[in-house]
Parts: sequence; C-alpha cells; structure tokens
Amino acid sequence: MTKSVDILIIGSGISALFFAIKTAIKCPNKSILILTKSSKDNNSTRYAQGGIAIVTDFIKDDFTNHIEDTLRAGKYTNKLEVVEMVIKQAPERLEELIRFNIDFDKNPDGTWNLGLEGGHSQHRILHHKDISGLEIERKLLQKLKDFPNISLNENTAVLNLTQNNKNCIGVFYYDRKSKTTDFIFSNVTVLCTGGCGQVFKRTTNPEIATGDGLAMAHKIGAEIQDMHNIQFHPTALYEKNKNQYFLISEAVRGFGAYIINQKGERFVFKHDVRGELATRDIVSEAIETEMKKNGTEFVYLDCRHLDENEFNNHFPTIVAYCNNIGLSPKTDLIPIFPVAHYQCGGIVVDKNSQTTVPRLFAIGECSYTGLHGNNRLASNSLLEALVYAHQCSEYLVDNNEIFTSPKIENHPLPSFQISTNNNNLQATEIRQKLQKIITQGFLNQLPLDFAKERITEIYEETKLLASSNIKNLETVELENMTIVATLIIDAKIQYSKLTSTNFP
Ligand SMILES: Cc1cc2nc3c(=O)[nH]c(=O)nc-3n(C[C@H](O)[C@H](O)[C@H](O)COP(=O)(O)OP(=O)(O)OC[C@H]3O[C@@H](n4cnc5c(N)ncnc54)[C@H](O)[C@@H]3O)c2cc1C
Repeated sequence: MTKSVDILIIGSGISALFFAIKTAIKCPNKSILILTKSSKDNNSTRYAQGGIAIVTDFIKDDFTNHIEDTLRAGKYTNKLEVVEMVIKQAPERLEELIRFNIDFDKNPDGTWNLGLEGGHSQHRILHHKDISGLEIERKLLQKLKDFPNISLNENTAVLNLTQNNKNCIGVFYYDRKSKTTDFIFSNVTVLCTGGCGQVFKRTTNPEIATGDGLAMAHKIGAEIQDMHNIQFHPTALYEKNKNQYFLISEAVRGFGAYIINQKGERFVFKHDVRGELATRDIVSEAIETEMKKNGTEFVYLDCRHLDENEFNNHFPTIVAYCNNIGLSPKTDLIPIFPVAHYQCGGIVVDKNSQTTVPRLFAIGECSYTGLHGNNRLASNSLLEALVYAHQCSEYLVDNNEIFTSPKIENHPLPSFQISTNNNNLQATEIRQKLQKIITQGFLNQLPLDFAKERITEIYEETKLLASSNIKNLETVELENMTIVATLIIDAKIQYSKLTSTNFP
C-alpha cells in the first residue's frame, strides 16, 4: 500500500463516499485513499430505510417548517445556525445525488413520493422504496470508479491515529488480508467511522459500529460532546438472541401503523398528542414505560388495517423480512422494542468538519455538529452527512496550504503487534458484560454510579487482556467500546443532574 497520501478517509459509508467523490471532482491531482475495516458496503448507510429529509414541495412546506421540526425534536438544544445551514443547503445536495444517478421514488404525475416520519409536520422524506441507504451506497460506490485518484482498501482496520506536534499525520492500521500492520501518512485525515450502537446490548447498527473513530479521536485529545444523546429507535423487530436487530422503519408509522400493548390498546397518546408520530425519544420512553408496567419484553406494531397492496409496494424489504421469520404484517402483530440506533453526540467539529485536532476532520455520525441537539429528527442524518461532506470538501479546495506536509519531529510513533488469533472467548465475554451494563445504566435500570464503577472495572480488564499477548482486532474494538461507554456514562451522569428521563 502507498505510504503517504494527500487525503486519507476512514470508512466507506455515505460520509466517506460523498466526500471522496466531491473532492476528487475538484482536486483531480490529489491522492485520496479510503480505508474501511470490513467489506466496502458493510456500514449503517446501507441499512437506512426511511430516506432523506429535504424540503422539495415549496407549496405545502418550507425551510422554516423543517427548521422548527428539527429544533423541536432536539428540544431546542440544537445550534440554530447549523440547523439553518443544513436545511437550506439540502436541495443543492439533492441535485448532486440525482447527478450521481441515485433514484428516489416518484408519483405517477412525476412529483416526488414524499414519506412522513415522526416529528415531521409535513411529508418531506425522499426515499427509494424501503432501501434508501442501499440505493445511495451502491450508486456512490459505482460513481467512485470514475476517479483514478481515489483508491479504496477493504478489510483494513485503523487501530490508532498518529499524532506529531499536535497534528494528526496519519494512521496505524491492520490489513486483515495480509495480517500485517503499518503506518500510512497523510496531510489530511477524515474520520467517517459512523456510530457506536454495538456498545449496547440491543441495536440496529451493524457489527462495525463500535465507535472506533470516536475513541481514537478522544485518545489524541479531540473534544467530544453530548455522548449521553444516544437515540433509541422505538420500533426494532424483537427477536431472541441477536444484535443487530432489524428495523421497522418509522415510515411504517407514518403510513398509519399503530403501536399497541398486549391487551390491544394504543397507549402512546397518553404520552404525547401526536401518538405514534411523536419523536423517537417520546415513543421509546412510552414503550419502555409500558413494558416495565406489564413486565413484557416487547409491545406490538399493528399494520393489519393498512392497505395490503400499497403496504407491500412501499415496504417490500420489511414485508420480506417479516415473512422470512413467519410473520405477515397483514394478519400478524409485529413484536417491537426500543434499541440503540443513533449517536447524536460525537467528535466536535466546526462548520467545515474540522475537529479540535489540526489536520483531523470528522463527517457523519461520528461527529457532533450541533444539528440534532438532544434528539435527532428522523431522516436528518443522511442529510447532515451530505452537507458536511460538501463543507469539508469546499474548505480543503479553498485552503490548499493544508497539503503542505507538516513538520514532523523525529520521535518513535506508537505501534503494537497484533495477533491473528481471532478466537478470543475472553474478549467476547467482556464485550457482552459491557453491553449489558451500559444498556442497563443508560435505561436507568441500574444506579449510574454503579454502572460507572462496573464500566471502569471492565476497562481495566480489557487493558489487561490487551496488554497480554493476545491483542487482536477484537480486543482493540473492545478497548474502543469501553472508552465510548465511559464517555456515554460520564455524560449521562452529568445530564441526570438536570432531568430524570431515560431518553434525553
Ligand atoms: C437500520 C438503520 C436505519 C437508518 N435509517 C435512516 C434513515 O432512513 N435516514 C437517515 O437519515 N438516517 C438513517 N439511519 C442513520 C444513518 O444511516 C447513519 O447515520 C449514516 O448512514 C451514517 O453514515 P456514516 O458515513 O457516518 O457511517 P457508516 O455508514 O456507518 O460508515 C462507517 C464506516 O466506517 C468504517 N469504520 C469504522 N471503524 C473503522 C476502523 N477502525 N477502520 C476502518 N474503517 C472503519 C466502517 O467499516 C464503515 O464503512 C439509519 C441507521 C440504521 C442503522
């Protein structure tokens, strides 16, 4: 692999690919390398069902409505100037997606078929059936091939960010195919490493979502904010013994589905007049309360009254998944429960995605921009990734001096050996222990101070394991997860002094 590049991108979801393409168009002479720890399409992006929130119907809707919905969902803790920037820029980013051949569903009269989701006062979600993220991921990966200055290495896990003289100067990585480690140097490093759902016992996030980028940035001193703002999605499909859980998109409730308890009663209205279309924090809290009251592990989503043909047409993937496990949305109730879904906090960035560490940028779910405040409005995250990829790309084009290599002081760079032994039972046990404690702590099922003590013990256990001879990718991820769990619980302890709700 090349030893040095102009721009190094970590991750291959929407943030990474959109940023790479936009930058390659404007900077054909800059070398751009994407490293991604699994296969190129293994990320949260490919699982996005609902779509992207963008104001397109300026007769029924306008930017002010979308801005107000975003602020209301975020409990007015969002950064107003960021909310305005993202929402007003959205139509331009949509035009680019269309130029990159991404298809969104249209009505027979040629207008956009816009979905409705919780917290939105208008239909404004552009979608591609119920596989919007997969459509975006596939088409961006296809587009990437047009640019000879972009290379992509799969199965390459970044283990550490390399720092010199305060600057981030590249990374230390593990190539899972050749089973070797090495450094790569870069003028600019961009974290697009996604969220941290796997830290929890129950999540919609794929197994790559272990918060690596956040933990690595924290280790080199980047500012992190609002990690207590983990959004739980109220309607993951309940199944025994798994983690990643299949998501039943919010758009299904937008389409008219009800949430009912074991007695067949709709109960979300007791918590909010918007009922099933309240924001995710409110619906999740309502479900958790109902499950606790009735001593159950799930409630139900009821789609039986909805038009079968239209439902099948809108949600073919959800129907197929349910059918596959022996459920029919037309005749059966679908068991659902809230699970960790989205990290609203993260690595603090400015409007150009610059972190507090020089030459280190962060885009997408790993970053904290201030857009979401306490709670993300549905379908605003793909949009945030697009807008910040644009902002970062423009910044680099306008600040060419950043591509002059930084002065490097000659001292040894931190590195370590990595074992190829992947059968690490001890790490798996510690990981499950961590997932259980942080989930119980987060849901206030355990005193926070107790959860904090247990997480500190787990961190010590992990460090011990990692310092023995069996440090492998699993233990590196585990270390990252314990760092992230500590950041979450510390922020939660701070936040709990202000409020007693489970979901911020
Ligand atoms: C089931 C589901 C449904 C969703 N639906 C919607 C929706 O409808 N609308 C919406 O707006 N949002 C939705 N979201 C959220 C949205 O999909 C994500 O926030 C967004 O896709 C994140 O994109 P990203 O590029 O930041 O990260 P990801 O797409 O998660 O990509 C992260 C990348 O980083 C790589 N990586 C991580 N660590 C390392 C490492 N150490 N070394 C190398 N590579 C690494 C991973 O392999 C991966 O390629 C959904 C999320 C889920 C899970």
